[in-house]
Amino acid sequence: MKKTILIIEDNEQNLYLATFLLERNGFEVESARDGTEGIAMANQIKPDLILLDIQLPEIDGYAVARALRQNPALKETPIVAVTSYAMPGDRERTIEAGCTGYIEKPINPDTFKAEIAKYIKPAGGTKNDNSDC
Ligand code: MN
Repeated sequence: MKKTILIIEDNEQNLYLATFLLERNGFEVESARDGTEGIAMANQIKPDLILLDIQLPEIDGYAVARALRQNPALKETPIVAVTSYAMPGDRERTIEAGCTGYIEKPINPDTFKAEIAKYIKPAGGTKNDNSDC
C-alpha cells in the first residue's frame, strides 16, 4: 500500500510541483489549501507525513502544527515545514511548534526526494527514527 502525504499549501504552483514530485516517487498525495482544511483532513485521513507551508492565510503554519500535535493520533506523524524564511530563529520556531523538520522554499526538484526521504520511505520502507528531533 502506498503511503499518504498530506500537503497543506495555498500556492498552486508549489502544490503542483510537490504533488508531481511525490507522486512520481510512489506516494499517495492529498492536499489542503488552508490550515483549517488541513487540520480537518489530517484528523480524518491520518497521513504518513504532513508537508506544511508556514505562510498560510488566516491560520499560519505554526498554529497548524500546534493544532495537529494536539491530536494523539498524529503525535508521531512527521510534520515537515516548508519555509522561505532565512532567519535561523524562524526555523527553530517551526520545531518549537511541533514540526519534525523543514524544507526550504522554493522546492528544489533535484533535492526534494532526498529531503523527504529523511522522514519517510515509500511503501515497503520504514520510517526514520525522529527521536533526535
Ligand atoms: Mn503559502
